[in-house]
Formats: sequence, structure tokens, C-alpha cells
Amino acid sequence: MKLDTILVHAGGEPDPATGAIAPPIHLSTTYEHTPEGEATHGHIYIRETNPTQERLETALAAVEGGEIALVFASGMAAVAAYMQTLPSGSHVLRHTDIYTHTRVLGQDFLPKWGCEATHVDMTNLDTVGNAIRPNTKVLWMESPSNPGMDIIDIQAVAKIAHEAGAQLVVDSTFATPVMQRPLQLGANVVMHSMTKYLGGHSDVQGGALIFREKDERAAQAGEVRTVIGGVLSPFNAWLILRGLRSLACRMERHAANALAVAKALEGHPNIEAVHYPGLPSHPGHEIATRQMDGYGGMLSFRVKGGREEALKAASRVKLFFNATSLGGVESLIEHRQSIEGPTSVTPANLIRVTVGLEAAEDLIEDLVQALG
Ligand SMILES: *Cc1c(COP(=O)(O)O)cnc(C)c1O
Repeated sequence: MKLDTILVHAGGEPDPATGAIAPPIHLSTTYEHTPEGEATHGHIYIRETNPTQERLETALAAVEGGEIALVFASGMAAVAAYMQTLPSGSHVLRHTDIYTHTRVLGQDFLPKWGCEATHVDMTNLDTVGNAIRPNTKVLWMESPSNPGMDIIDIQAVAKIAHEAGAQLVVDSTFATPVMQRPLQLGANVVMHSMTKYLGGHSDVQGGALIFREKDERAAQAGEVRTVIGGVLSPFNAWLILRGLRSLACRMERHAANALAVAKALEGHPNIEAVHYPGLPSHPGHEIATRQMDGYGGMLSFRVKGGREEALKAASRVKLFFNATSLGGVESLIEHRQSIEGPTSVTPANLIRVTVGLEAAEDLIEDLVQALG
């Protein structure tokens, strides 16, 4: 079955009790069990499993082609749950350009758990192999990466990881399953901040881990969720499932708009560089064309003249909002270093753009006037 069809139907069986086509939201925290504690209808307690969460997980596993999906209260709860499955003494190898709080988790929390994270430029495969240590248990990457839009060869990095006995986890938030399915390229786990495109309307937070195999690590991540408690609310699971239904259509438009904006900005006299994998000038263009079904709705660009000029451009937009997050219907712009704070490694002149579903002409007009 084609992905567009799976996105509409997976986890969407009519409600057996009423025949309702739109799924019910089950808010109950507790479910009937026998005096001996056996579940009479498959669920016991909301923190473990519940029917609304189960629908979303069934859908995500089908969409990404994994054996099991686990959803969490946020993208970061999903990242942390995976990291908490690692045995003490593990080394985590990550790409240099990475979501800011994933970086912070590596700096501030992994050492407390007896683990360690280092970074390497994963666009250079030779350096990846050399950065692996005997205790490397996981390679972690985003492609495209946040906010630099680096493209990493998932298949090649998966091979390096597996030769070293490590797992590859791909944070595929920017690409979404519509543009990229990492498990089919050899990744062991795909992670999503569902707060972004999957929810799609800037009104719900959630995170997911989808495992290619129902392995030991998947079982442990499930235990982390139950015991540490970073669970998604049924209402949020329901909203995200609703978002999934239109994901294919939305991504088509996000990507078409982003390409139009990227093309319009490239060559602008006040722009130093545009980072969008759909542009032939992007160093990862060929890999992106091979491993993605489109280039997504995110881009970033660097303004000539440094931080001050970038902030000036960000302050002049009229249609775009200055706001963080991404993947909603409205276009947002952000001076990324300002929001990442003092530990940021993002260039001072970089502006990140999430291209929404407005008319591309209006978005281009706004950015061009803002650039002066
Ligand atoms: C937003 C984001 C996260 C974190 O997700 P939350 O839902 O905000 O916790 C992780 N990775 C990437 C690439 C993101 O954009």
C-alpha cells in the first residue's frame, strides 16, 4: 500500500462500540481488570498503555515501517527515554549540527548517567569511523539537521554504526515520513518531535521513537516511559493522529513553497548562503535526492554583515512571525543563535525559516522586503 493511503488509514479502524469513523478519545486513567489483575480489555493503567495512544502508535509503526512505535510527552522525552536505555559507560556519537536541547542533554545529563557524548561531522564519512570508540553504543543524527540543514548519508552511516556494533538513531523531525523513511535505509530507530509537522498546527506537543525491530532497546524504552512517566496525554495522541491524516498533502505544499523561497533568496545581494537541500548548490543535494522523496519545508540562510544585519532582517518581516518551533501552517522566522542561548554553536548571521502553507509569492515578497 502507498504511504499516502497508510497515512490516512493506519490506526483508523471504526470504533467497535459505536461505529464512529473519527476515533474516540479515551480519557480514562484506569481499565477494568479481573480480581487477579488480568486486563479484561487489553489495558490496565493510562501510564502503561491506552486505546488512543495505541491507535497513534499503530499508525506510526505502519508509516515508518517499524515493528513497534512508542509515543512520549514531547520530542525531548523521546530522546531522553532512548538515552536512558543505554548502559552506564556508553559513548554516544553525534553529528555536530543538532537540535539544541539534544545537545544540552548530552552535556548536562549523559555524564550523570555515566555516559558521554562527542560530536563529529557526519557529512564526512571518514571522520565518522575514526570517532567511534570501543564503548560507542549509538550514532545519533538529524538529516536535514537543525538548523544548518546538513544532509547525512543515512545508509552509509548505518553501515559504519552496525560494523561497530552500535545502533543508528535518526531524528527525522525535519523530513517527516513523507519525505524520508530512515528505517528502510538501515537506521535502527527513527525519532520524531511530533510537535512539529506531524501535529502540524502549532497546537500539540509529542514525541515518538519507532524501532525497526522489537529489540531489547525498544522494550527498555517502553519501561523507561512507564517508570519515569513521560507519557503523552490521550487528547494529544488524538490531535497528532488527526494531523497525520493530512501530512502527505501538507508536506507537498510545504516543500513546494520552501523550494520557491529558497530559489528566490539564492543570489540575493544581502544573502551569503541559502541552506536548502533542494538547491543544486547544496553540498548534500545529491544524497538528499537519493534518500528523500522531496526536500521538506525547512530552510536556513546566512545574512551578509553578521549578527546585526540578521537581526535587522528578522525585525522587518510583516507576514512571517518571529517565533520558535516549526511545521505548522504559518510561516515562522527565527534568529537561531538568540534562541539557542550562550551554548549555541550556530553562526551569528543564520536565520531559520519554517515555510508554511501560505502563497509562496506572499512569503517571498515579505522576505525580500525584510532583507532590504
Ligand atoms: C523540536 C525538536 C526536538 C524536540 O522536540 P520537542 O517536542 O520540542 O520536545 C528534537 N529534534 C528536533 C530536530 C526538533 O526540531
